[in-house]
Amino acid sequence: MTDQTRPDDPVSIRRTFAIISHPDAGKTTLTEKLLLFGGAIQLAGEVKAKRNRVNTRSDWMNIERQRGISVMTSVMTFEYDGRVFNLLDTPGHEDFSEDTYRTLTAVDSAIMVIDAAKGIEDRTRKLFEVCRLRDIPIVTFINKMDRETRDPFDLLDEIEKTLALDTAPVTWPIGRGKDFAGTYNLAQNTIRRLDGEVEATPVSGPEDKLFDELLSQYDVDEWREEVALAREGLRPFDLAAFREGHLSPVFFGSALRNFGVRDLIDSLGAIAPPPRAQEAEGRMVEADERKMTGFIFKIQANMDPNHRDRIAFMRVCSGKLTRGMKAKLVRTGKPITLSAPQFFFAQDRAIADEAYAGDVVGIPNHGTLRIGDTLSEGEQIVFRGVPSFAPELMRRVKIGDAMKQKKLREALQQLAEEGVVQLFIPFDGSGAIVGVVGALQLDVLKERLGAEYNLPIDYEPVRFSICRWVEADDRAELDKFMTANNSAMANDLDGAPVFMAPSPFSLQYDAERWPAIRFTDVKDYQ
Ligand code: GDP
Repeated sequence: MTDQTRPDDPVSIRRTFAIISHPDAGKTTLTEKLLLFGGAIQLAGEVKAKRNRVNTRSDWMNIERQRGISVMTSVMTFEYDGRVFNLLDTPGHEDFSEDTYRTLTAVDSAIMVIDAAKGIEDRTRKLFEVCRLRDIPIVTFINKMDRETRDPFDLLDEIEKTLALDTAPVTWPIGRGKDFAGTYNLAQNTIRRLDGEVEATPVSGPEDKLFDELLSQYDVDEWREEVALAREGLRPFDLAAFREGHLSPVFFGSALRNFGVRDLIDSLGAIAPPPRAQEAEGRMVEADERKMTGFIFKIQANMDPNHRDRIAFMRVCSGKLTRGMKAKLVRTGKPITLSAPQFFFAQDRAIADEAYAGDVVGIPNHGTLRIGDTLSEGEQIVFRGVPSFAPELMRRVKIGDAMKQKKLREALQQLAEEGVVQLFIPFDGSGAIVGVVGALQLDVLKERLGAEYNLPIDYEPVRFSICRWVEADDRAELDKFMTANNSAMANDLDGAPVFMAPSPFSLQYDAERWPAIRFTDVKDYQ
């Protein structure tokens, strides 16, 4: 395994990553342990404890507490072994997939956590598919080896088959469940005992006598054979294939017992890519370019509910961001002064005096910045790939008091800019329609309109269940389509035309009747 880290180069020491998993696989537990390595938190348990505590950041979000889930995406920065790790948290609940997808556009690698008793679960697969769209390299952590598990060979086979992803085990479990004794590092020929020292013990191979000595309380013959089989029979690690997103190194462990986590983070430091080049319209932006560029992938409102403040999370893509610098907001062409950019840690925020490619900074603003925005030092450049997905649920927003219509429209506009819901304004002048990927987003919208804007709303069903952005090379053809379907047309937040249909079947019917029109279910934000 090669390591391209150069200590004097701030970009090469950065690792910006996310953890993808199915709920309950152990993401929170692993996050705690990773943060412990970085010294970012004192005690394991903090992450979850904090979730349940009332704090300014999520005070308003009663839903979060009631349902005991985290609906916020945040970033946690920590240093370990000469590197800076930026861990972007992806909300665990399925309904928040839009937020999660956007977060994954801002990482360079991901850890995939799998429950050893369950294997690949639904949500893991979906998140993996999003990573695959961008060929994000994946490190696999097979968790909960201290409990009854499936056969490790089967688990690897399942990953290969269901995800079409090659696997290369780096460590191999010695025993499992109550007999889980440690791991064997197949690349380095070392044994790490579950209850052992921090350093792993080198051996000459699985047949080494030390194997028995180290694990004398177990009946090791069977495990030794399995290690030998894994070493002989399974694919070795290949850095190039990993970096291209085709092969995943696999680690076995137990997040709860803090076992296997050190191997995992050491490997992330050694093999996960430093900040990669990002695709902008017209050119690739290299991380080591001199001028600062970045894009906004997340907006979080009301971290301080007394001021309608919003934090826009920006991934720095190149150059150096310095506090106080003037950047250009490409969408409007206007300058924006970055007077108080912030870094986030597990428990704190701090003013960011300098940030480099791969870093995520929070930029406080009052609505100037939107999801998908690009900031630059003057260049007219737009990053691609912060997607908007066609909603799967649509509702009309109703408010009893007609005098509040205008206020409602403004509030919806603001919340749509934050990415809480998507907003569609029908051509025919009927009330605003909101679209979401998951039903929980509707609850969040209602809650926030009530709590923050004093706008008590209800939802009404609409006859549409599906929508698509429409485009055509021939403008006249698009106009003809829109006129013919006026009552099923709306504008999205940016004024782009959207066609709404009652069912996938009717959508397909219309698509066939209008071959010159392109119907798309994913739209880049810009
Ligand atoms: P998340 O939903 O993916 O964030 O999962 P959590 O980290 O909250 O873990 C879900 C449950 O599994 C919790 O009760 C954890 O204590 C437990 N858990 C996590 N990792 C392990 C592990 O390695 N071994 C065992 N036995 N339990 C674990």
